Amino acid sequence: MVERREGMDKPVIVTVDDDPGVSRAVARDLRRRYGHDYRIVRAETAKDGMEAVREMRLRGDEVAAILADYRMPQMNGVEFLEAAMDLYPYARRVLLTAYADTQAAIQAINVVDLDHYLLKPWDPPEEKFYPVLDGQLDAWQRTDRRERSELRVVGDRWSAPSYKVRDFLARNHVPYQWLLASEPEGAQLVKAAGDGCHLPLVVQPDGTVLEAPDQTTLAAAVGLSTTPATDFYDVIVVGGGPAGLGAAVYAASEGLNTVLVEAYSSGGQAGQSSRIENYLGFPDGVSGQQLADRARRQALKFGAELLTPRKVNSLEARGQARVVGFKDGGEIAAHAVILATGVTYRRLQAPGLDDFVGRGVYYGAALTEAPWCKNTEVFVVGAANSAGQAAVYLSQYASKVHLLVRGDGLEKSMSHYLIEQIAALPNVEVHLQTEVAGASGDGHLERLTLSTKGEERTVDAQWLFVFIGAEPYTSWLGETIERDARGFVLTGPDLVQGGRRRLWDEIEAARDEWQQLGCPDRNRFQVAVDREGARLLFGDREWLVV
Ligand SMILES: Cc1cc2nc3c(=O)[nH]c(=O)nc-3n(C[C@H](O)[C@H](O)[C@H](O)COP(=O)(O)OP(=O)(O)OC[C@H]3O[C@@H](n4cnc5c(N)ncnc54)[C@H](O)[C@@H]3O)c2cc1C
Repeated sequence: MVERREGMDKPVIVTVDDDPGVSRAVARDLRRRYGHDYRIVRAETAKDGMEAVREMRLRGDEVAAILADYRMPQMNGVEFLEAAMDLYPYARRVLLTAYADTQAAIQAINVVDLDHYLLKPWDPPEEKFYPVLDGQLDAWQRTDRRERSELRVVGDRWSAPSYKVRDFLARNHVPYQWLLASEPEGAQLVKAAGDGCHLPLVVQPDGTVLEAPDQTTLAAAVGLSTTPATDFYDVIVVGGGPAGLGAAVYAASEGLNTVLVEAYSSGGQAGQSSRIENYLGFPDGVSGQQLADRARRQALKFGAELLTPRKVNSLEARGQARVVGFKDGGEIAAHAVILATGVTYRRLQAPGLDDFVGRGVYYGAALTEAPWCKNTEVFVVGAANSAGQAAVYLSQYASKVHLLVRGDGLEKSMSHYLIEQIAALPNVEVHLQTEVAGASGDGHLERLTLSTKGEERTVDAQWLFVFIGAEPYTSWLGETIERDARGFVLTGPDLVQGGRRRLWDEIEAARDEWQQLGCPDRNRFQVAVDREGARLLFGDREWLVV
């Protein structure tokens, strides 16, 4: 049976439990607290529940949360939530479990991106039920729930600009449909866009067509925010990988006016990981995309602003402000700037390879391209975890994965769990002491020259994924920030020289300057340290030293 209440215009909370007593009790608790703002829909079987959800979808009702019991005969709670998610992707998903089923609930966190699981019974609800659901409904209220029909991207299979558009959309979590210009549906859209149009085409849900859009145009079209709301913040975070997102969450949650500036897509390198298994709190692993999405939502929830894509290319101290300049013009300032710019991929050096980037040669891009590698042989270069993960992931699609390793083993650079996974996969072959010596092809990668212990051979190859480590991209910092010889920004103990922090050297330099200005007593100064930094005060003059 399905029980409906009045107030058809309110958003709905759905609850499904096959035990009639429990089902009524859940609905009663829900009504008591949320009945004023939400309509409570209760079902006693998964089938009835699904029917109700489908009806609501057709009617255009809004569903805020779905609570499903784990143990139901026809369809368990996880399956129910998974099916409901197709109809209401933004509804918060809560699984109701008994203590014995918590393992299943933990697994469901990954399967259906479960938002919470609740142990039954929850007496008193004020302590054990309402705080959880308050949080979920609050999150739902903040979600941008506008329906987005799919974008369509039309291009050529081996075109680097097409790949760039697809990669940008995928890494920014924008769903799209990829159509080849050579196939009927794609060809029709190309025809409609007019003779001589430039590929790739991005066809928006309202029919607007963008021809070979640049990143800024594309970002604006898919609703990414690139314009800062103000010109002065408490904190500017540069870089939206896990470190930057973490910094933004904690700064914003402390009430600091925070903006995060990301050059390409939030999630950074981690966003490209097919499965991260060693992240605290995810015993069954989590995909990089899911992790990035959750972190981004968390930062937004606390009020942080996220600008994507905007690249920062200057940083300077101007009085007590720290000023960050954008590559495409404009600047913003803050009391503090956090640099979380991670690293950029090192390029593999071999004749011909650069000609095929985005056309068979990919840096850290196994996720987007994997489905296209079905039943083909692929080559992965690298010996660390990212290469290992890519090999495991690609092995689900490719007929064979060749892992090319320069050294004589994986043990030094790859986690043990990944080495074991690779060893267990029949379609992954590890080639030790092997390097790529060259690449060739007509319009896209077709052949690789491999060198094993100095002996060269040429093999047919359409796909090469490179994961050979990365280096800090910090040259844009100029003289402002101290770095080591490899470009890493000095922090913590690295700022200590001869037993003293570098700050001390700067104080000494300011003292020298003070002395040169005619004051004989280089020790008559005060140090003022506040949230803007540290200043040296000599009479009415001051020097900012940090
Ligand atoms: C495929 C893959 C799989 C991985 N798997 C694992 C794993 O399983 N477990 C694990 O522990 N680690 C894994 N790693 C490593 C992990 O992802 C990184 O250690 C982590 O992402 C580093 O986080 P970060 O925030 O410091 O930097 P990054 O993730 O590198 O993020 C830096 C961000 O800053 C942005 N940026 C850089 N310069 C600028 C600028 N000037 N202006 C604006 N933005 C800028 C970049 O675009 C980037 O988004 C993996 C890495 C890869 C590539």
